[in-house]
Amino acid sequence: MVADTMLGRLARWLRIMGYDIHFQSSYPEGAMHALIQEGRRPLSRGQGLQRLFPDVLIIHSNRVENQVHEAVQGLGLVPDRSRWFTRCLVCNVPLTEAGFEERLENVPDYVLYENPSGIRHCACCSRYFWPGTHREKMLRKLEEWGF
Ligand SMILES: [Zn+2]
Repeated sequence: MVADTMLGRLARWLRIMGYDIHFQSSYPEGAMHALIQEGRRPLSRGQGLQRLFPDVLIIHSNRVENQVHEAVQGLGLVPDRSRWFTRCLVCNVPLTEAGFEERLENVPDYVLYENPSGIRHCACCSRYFWPGTHREKMLRKLEEWGF
């Protein structure tokens, strides 16, 4: 998938749910078309792409909650909890489980104490992610939204 510049929040939520969705806050001339030609399905707030790419999914709602539902239905996605929080929200790449040494070196002690496993690493931006209050909040939102 590739999202247009209006769909940053939607893209973030789809990444939270583990989906591969490319997003940039601005696209140089032709960049979005190139991504579509590589096989990414376009998601757009406007009708502009429809002429060239008939399979564009037009997102109608302004509210991110409804946008997520539109995308899930429109793309025929089947939300799978085991995929949630497995992708970097910033880089859109799959996270890898951090090894023991790596965790000791890069993760605060209190986090290691509370979460001896489940610490994931992004090879692209070098961030570490672990279960915590931030993730809990996102999880609760998804549940509120009916996923
Ligand atoms: Zn990253």
